[in-house]
Amino acid sequence: MASEGEEDYVPWIRQFCKLFGHDYFVAVSHEFIEDDFNLTGLSSQVPYYKEALYTLLDYQVDTIEDVKNGGDSNNKNNNNTKPGKPKHELPNRVILDSSAELLYGLIHARYIVTKAGLTEMAGKFERNEFGSCPRYYCDSMHLIPVGPLDISGQETVRLYCPCCNDTYVPQSLRFLNIDGAFFGTTFPGLLVQMFPEIENQCRIRLNKYKNEEFGLRLFGFRINEKSMSGPRVKWLRAVPETADEIAEYDKCELRLPWGEGDDADEEIEDDEEDDDDKTMASE
Ligand SMILES: [Zn+2]
Repeated sequence: MASEGEEDYVPWIRQFCKLFGHDYFVAVSHEFIEDDFNLTGLSSQVPYYKEALYTLLDYQVDTIEDVKNGGDSNNKNNNNTKPGKPKHELPNRVILDSSAELLYGLIHARYIVTKAGLTEMAGKFERNEFGSCPRYYCDSMHLIPVGPLDISGQETVRLYCPCCNDTYVPQSLRFLNIDGAFFGTTFPGLLVQMFPEIENQCRIRLNKYKNEEFGLRLFGFRINEKSMSGPRVKWLRAVPETADEIAEYDKCELRLPWGEGDDADEEIEDDEEDDDDKTMASE
């Protein structure tokens, strides 16, 4: 009977990766988890750290429920059990499960920035397991999971598109409670660095649509950019290209382009006059 049970046993990590919504995760090797260097600093972030770690590594861990339900007789016969703790120090099953998930997630974020982890995640990226960019001009570019923050419990996982440099909320609800810190902020940048092919794919897409930028039209005529209904939000995706534009961008990021006080009003008036001139000219 015992041998049957062992055959049926699915390792904790494999179970975790198969759970609903855990499609973005890769299986971290026991070897990586057993190396103390990889776990530096995690013990203070995870409640019942030791018990959670033993759970990931498939050791049997006692919980309050085990002691209550199984009674002492079971534990006496079980040689795999760790030396008993006083009952009040044992975690309950729910807390232990959430601690184990938190610990695995934090280890996962560290694993996927190693060479082995990057390679595994690149395989998933290649198979489009993270989904495609919803932006039309990105031509179904494959997305990369990213965490907006490296602190757990703050933000859910987002998807980064290397083509438009934007992040998106996953379309399926199943990913909306996955912690972004389990993927981290560093991962997409490293993946793109390590596999230049990704940038190459973006370049092909950008060239494909270079001259086909979308603009609203009325009966075939492009709408003037200065019109109220014109494409005024174009700047949202504009990137400074010339030296002048970069200089202007640097200035704008920190303060308004014009000075302070009286000069400001004068310059605004000048700008308005310029606008009128251009509109007249274009008409
Ligand atoms: Zn995109």
